[in-house]
Amino acid sequence: CDELLMLYQPKFHVRRQKVTCAEALIRWRHPTRGMIPPVEFIPVAEEAHLIDRVTLWSIRRVIEDQRRMRAAGHDLRLFVNISGQLLSDPAFVSEACALVASSGATLGFEITETSVIRDPVSAIANLQVFADIGIRIAIDDYGAGLSSLAYLKQLPASELKIDKLFVTQLTSSNRDPLIVRSTIDLAHALEMEVVAEGVESHAALALLTVMGCDLVQGFLISRPVSTEALIAFLADESWQPAAGQES
Ligand code: C2E
Ligand code: CA
Ligand code: CA
Repeated sequence: CDELLMLYQPKFHVRRQKVTCAEALIRWRHPTRGMIPPVEFIPVAEEAHLIDRVTLWSIRRVIEDQRRMRAAGHDLRLFVNISGQLLSDPAFVSEACALVASSGATLGFEITETSVIRDPVSAIANLQVFADIGIRIAIDDYGAGLSSLAYLKQLPASELKIDKLFVTQLTSSNRDPLIVRSTIDLAHALEMEVVAEGVESHAALALLTVMGCDLVQGFLISRPVSTEALIAFLADESWQPAAGQES
């Protein structure tokens, strides 16, 4: 795992006007091939049954990075992406719980709905185990895959992330604002907070604010960055999305 590294992308709380949490996004720095994005190696790790080791490494890394952020005065909940197949892996579930419970870390897990559909009974039971020890569950990529309202209601999730597919085109499409608004209302009716991912423009942020979206994540706020860069970003108190430069 020496070649793996973790970057963090902040999630900005719209009403509180501050960064309250961040998502951990893994990278593989290959000695000859350079930086390999997760979309290329996570599926391979899943197929080779190495994803449990990679994810336990991620959780350890995130716990350690949260200690460094706390030492610098920044207490953010950090979210880790969890592959679907791990939700029905009892060895992973108990190791992950032991790591988190013994560390005092404040974490969240991002899971997709599709990952639950594979083995719903054990996935839902294990998500409840995570939620019971204080891990916040976020439903990732909502709207991108197969969605089932039946599962949505049963999941012990407190956060719904609208897929960037609907957010990046928000201000140039006729249909996407309707989908996003009704998703926000649905999530609120289920007592979940809503995160819009892929927020790239001030116009999108403004529309999401009017629609009552709770948190935003995307290049407008920050790209995924190292722990040191995140600490520097959080220390800049003058920073506001309205003043942030577009990259
Ligand atoms: P995801 O969980 O949906 O992560 C969001 C992806 O959107 C990230 O890509 C992020 O860099 C990108 N993104 C963020 N803001 C914007 C924006 O404003 N515009 C656009 N166009 N894109 C934006 P990344 O880091 O390449 O990760 C891709 C996927 O790989 C993730 O999708 C996630 O499913 C998976 N992944 C990343 N880290 C891990 C991990 O530690 N474990 C597992 N199992 N999967 C991971
Ligand atoms: Ca995610
Ligand atoms: Ca996502």
